[in-house]
Amino acid sequence: MKSKSIYRKLLFVFAFLGCLIFCTDGLCAKEFVVVIDPGHGGKDPGAVGKTAREKNINLKVALKLGDLITKNCKDVKVIYTRKTDVFIPLDRRAQIANNAKADLFISIHTNSVKNNNTARGASTYTLGLSRTAENLAVAKRENGVIMLENDYKTTYAGFDPNSSESYIIFEYMQDQFMENSVSFASTIQKEFKNRCKRNDRGVHQAEFLVLKNSVMPSVLVELGFISNPTEEKYLSSEAGSSTMANGLYQAFLTYKKDHSLKRRTTAQASSASGTKAGTSAQKSQATSSGKSGQTASANVSAGQPTVFKVQFLTSSAILKKGDKRLKGITNFEYYKEGGVYKYTCGASQDYNRTLRTRKEIASKFGDAFIIAFQGDKKVNVNQAIEAFKKKKK
Ligand SMILES: [Zn+2]
Repeated sequence: MKSKSIYRKLLFVFAFLGCLIFCTDGLCAKEFVVVIDPGHGGKDPGAVGKTAREKNINLKVALKLGDLITKNCKDVKVIYTRKTDVFIPLDRRAQIANNAKADLFISIHTNSVKNNNTARGASTYTLGLSRTAENLAVAKRENGVIMLENDYKTTYAGFDPNSSESYIIFEYMQDQFMENSVSFASTIQKEFKNRCKRNDRGVHQAEFLVLKNSVMPSVLVELGFISNPTEEKYLSSEAGSSTMANGLYQAFLTYKKDHSLKRRTTAQASSASGTKAGTSAQKSQATSSGKSGQTASANVSAGQPTVFKVQFLTSSAILKKGDKRLKGITNFEYYKEGGVYKYTCGASQDYNRTLRTRKEIASKFGDAFIIAFQGDKKVNVNQAIEAFKKKKK
């Protein structure tokens, strides 16, 4: 009899715990978390115009956007990286979003070009390799804020925002959120153009540290040019900042509607197959073998020669020279891993040469990435690059 009552008590406790988990996970929790990141702040004014400062424009638009979401979307939790004029380190901004397990990250900025007062229009960036000098310049300017942080060399592992060589860390990065980020960015640009009547400068990719370190779909918006007096005036006005905030808000609604739908479908599919939803996606560096057959790579052994290669294709069968899928690449090798054949080219002990090969084939194989071998053994590419760079010094 005694044991029966213990079971009953245990059953009660489990039922209670179950309800609690259900409540925090489902009904009571906000369904969607968005992090709004007004760029710069405090001692960092951002770009400076004739009368306005970037940090103030960014904050005003951010707060208005957050207000619109909070008022109208009861199921959305809005988190700001800053709500006042304070300095926040760049890595802290991404951390805030990661800790909150945010579904979306919106970084708000205002553009500027030196000695040019006619450049105009709004653009939206996602994380990626910049294909033009102009995009790289924007990334360099926005990343430059880390130099105002006390210990930026340690925090960002020696990253120098002004040196093009530093941007190597972006070369072997893979962003699994790219599709969602680009889709959101395109919606924003549509709103900027149609609703806000801004000059549409389009969606671009560039190497932003703040986007690299956040592990969710993320965009960086450049509202307009503070270096253009007309746009400076517009963005500084109540009407201008409200219109821009509304444009972002409408884009957010569109993205969320689409995203929530997809998330529900994924959750249903996952619960049917018994896996947990939303745990696999990560912005990560390509230390392993790409989309299929991910395996852990071995550590680099000192004193052994390392060969870098560009992996551009996988196939379940061996492909012959001239196969259409190779898109004209004739000088290739392959290795077998996880039951599939993986095609590589550009083998070299000189990482920079392999990097050039990757750039050369980027138009044919956009998601090609670099891997490293010691003998037949695939090794951790991050370690291999580190070792290569050390040796060169
Ligand atoms: Zn900025």
